[in-house]
Amino acid sequence: MKSMTCIVCPKGCSLSIEEKEKGFRVSGALCPRGEEYALQEMTDPRRTLQTTIRTNLPGCRRVAVRTSKEVPLGEIFSYMDAIKGVILEEKKECGSVLARGLCDSDVDLILTERLY
Ligand code: SF4
Repeated sequence: MKSMTCIVCPKGCSLSIEEKEKGFRVSGALCPRGEEYALQEMTDPRRTLQTTIRTNLPGCRRVAVRTSKEVPLGEIFSYMDAIKGVILEEKKECGSVLARGLCDSDVDLILTERLY
């Protein structure tokens, strides 16, 4: 039996996951999204990666970025390595794509900070 807190909404239901012969049995979820979350966590955990990158802009050393979608938890460090090499050379709008296809995937890098 494994326990986790559902982070899909602020209610934070306490979930219990039991492994059965034909999959998992989830209890404690107040809605179906909790069960989906638990099954995803058990079979293919993913996270949206939020970090900062360097810039060459005067007076602005780093800016906030995130991945356009969740990436496999086991590959987070490969994504971090790919992101480390991205440098913002000119001002862009918040929401701009700064790099496409990180780690040969369909995941892009998005600027999440408004630059003045
Ligand atoms: S199970 Fe449903 S109600 Fe409970 S925290 Fe998750 S999303 Fe919210």
